[in-house]
Amino acid sequence: MESSEKKVGAEMIYECINCGAKVTAEQLAVTPEVKCPICGYRVLRKSRAPIVKHVKAR
Ligand SMILES: [Zn+2]
Repeated sequence: MESSEKKVGAEMIYECINCGAKVTAEQLAVTPEVKCPICGYRVLRKSRAPIVKHVKAR
C-alpha cells in the first residue's frame, strides 16, 4: 500500500520501448541510469500521463 503524497499536475511517464512497461520519472530518479526496471532496456520514450478530459458532445 502506497500512501505517499501525490503531486497535482502532469507527471512525466516513460515507456519502455522493449517491454512497454510504464515508468514514472520518480522511479527513474532512483536509479543512476535511465533504464527499464522490468527488463533493463535502456531506451525509454517519453509519454505523458493519461489525462482524462470530459468533453461534452453536443
Ligand atoms: Zn522494459
